[in-house]
Amino acid sequence: MNNKKLPENFIKIFGTAGARMAQSKQVRASGGAWLSLADTNLLFDPGPGTLVHCWAGDKPFNPAELDAIVLSHRHLDHSNDFNVMVESMVEGGFNPHGVAAAPADAMEGDEPIFFRYLRPTVDRVETLKEGYSFRVGGLTVTTPIRHKHPVETYGLVFQAEGINVSVVTDTRYFSGLIDAYRGADLLILNVTFIKPFHGSRAYHLSMEEIKPLITEIRPRMTLLTHFGTSILSSDPDKLANNLGEELAAKVVAASDGIVVDLDAMDIWKG
Ligand SMILES: [Zn+2]
Repeated sequence: MNNKKLPENFIKIFGTAGARMAQSKQVRASGGAWLSLADTNLLFDPGPGTLVHCWAGDKPFNPAELDAIVLSHRHLDHSNDFNVMVESMVEGGFNPHGVAAAPADAMEGDEPIFFRYLRPTVDRVETLKEGYSFRVGGLTVTTPIRHKHPVETYGLVFQAEGINVSVVTDTRYFSGLIDAYRGADLLILNVTFIKPFHGSRAYHLSMEEIKPLITEIRPRMTLLTHFGTSILSSDPDKLANNLGEELAAKVVAASDGIVVDLDAMDIWKG
């Protein structure tokens, strides 16, 4: 990052690694994304390394400025830094504030991922379910539909005046995704495979399966992320360009640290 001022409304993708192999070897960084929209700062899916990425570079992102931390599902590549990011948001408990949100099986269940001793440090704990909405600052956060994934998983819709950012996190393809994310200006798709692959635990989208999402939803921009090793070894930029040309749509492959200007709906060049 250089010192040029960030756009007023933006999303920064800390990491673009998808699933276990790309994460384990850090072929790409893992670590979710920071959304700054309508004077509200929200972090979602803080995988391994998020805290490090916040402070890396010459323009740090101070977790104390966060208003919310939201988890789509409990898998480690999304949740690993959830606790440390909450503790950093509340400055070790000295600045209690903010919202922590996650599905019920990450909040309760047999193996909750949110440490109980941290819970009193946030203003609000939100337990996500299908069709749920809550407000934080100038944002409405909605989890329109439960995804087909081995643990309780919800995609995330972030809405503010005139902007809808929809994050289709890990899921097997099903047609209900189209209606759930209709209205997206920026459509973020976790696309892990090139061809459909439904092995054990591998409930992720492929390049082939996302075509109807883009053509039906028609966002202003589609951002691909959460890449598995097959995509990473096949030049994600080229795959995204080819798909964009085929569908006559703006499709971009995210890279680690990329910033999208949500007003211009374009990659921020700094
Ligand atoms: Zn997952």
